[in-house]
Amino acid sequence: MSQYKHVLIAVDLTDESGQVIEKGKAIAERNGANISLIHALEPLGFAYGGDIPMDLTTIQEQLEQHAKAKLADLAAPLNIPQEQQHILVGVPDSEIHRMAKDQGVDLIVVGSHGRHGLSLLLGSTSTGVLHGAKCDVLAVRIQKDK
Ligand code: AMP
Repeated sequence: MSQYKHVLIAVDLTDESGQVIEKGKAIAERNGANISLIHALEPLGFAYGGDIPMDLTTIQEQLEQHAKAKLADLAAPLNIPQEQQHILVGVPDSEIHRMAKDQGVDLIVVGSHGRHGLSLLLGSTSTGVLHGAKCDVLAVRIQKDK
């Protein structure tokens, strides 16, 4: 069986992210694969467009710093070094696909809440990731009581 070479673990920075990272890391280790741990931050301008005449640069920078610190906190218990942690700015599924293509990723790992109904089985980001992916995608079922 062919081995994965580069596993991209995508997290939304909620407390449930630990479960996704843990699974992704275990698979990467079994395959001797590289890991990239990523979070995509939507630009504030996307939400507020040109409607509000204000400079959002400082707030955007603060959000990026906050996301970076949170990602580092989640990565620490699993010993994922800083150079493998990435904050990307953009729409999450597009950023995940872009990074996967640029970095030759062959497995993307996301979380899945397993809500009821087909359209809710995967969340909107995980559905978007699955649909455009050129490589394998693993949806880790989030356990509520963990
Ligand atoms: P959702 O589709 O929002 O239910 O999220 C499902 C999964 O998609 C999460 O567990 C993450 O693996 C991934 N995800 C959601 N939002 C982001 C984000 N902003 N950056 C990276 N991955 C994300």
